[in-house]
Amino acid sequence: MRILVDRERCIGSGTCVLTLPDVFTQDDEDGRVVLANDAPDAAALASVKQAVLTCPVSAISVEDGDGR
Ligand code: SF4
Repeated sequence: MRILVDRERCIGSGTCVLTLPDVFTQDDEDGRVVLANDAPDAAALASVKQAVLTCPVSAISVEDGDGR
């Protein structure tokens, strides 16, 4: 699993950071998302999916490592 974020689309709501702070952080200057870890363990999958679904501007996507 690899996480991708679109910083141009991000509005800095911080929802993903609240959901998974080990993976998502925010830029100190513009507040937009920054990935702290773009390849979290499979154990984080449910939280990653929640972050994808709750981002208000659909700026987060996930690439499956198997290409599926
Ligand atoms: S939830 Fe979406 S808009 Fe909010 S900080 Fe994360 S990536 Fe940006």
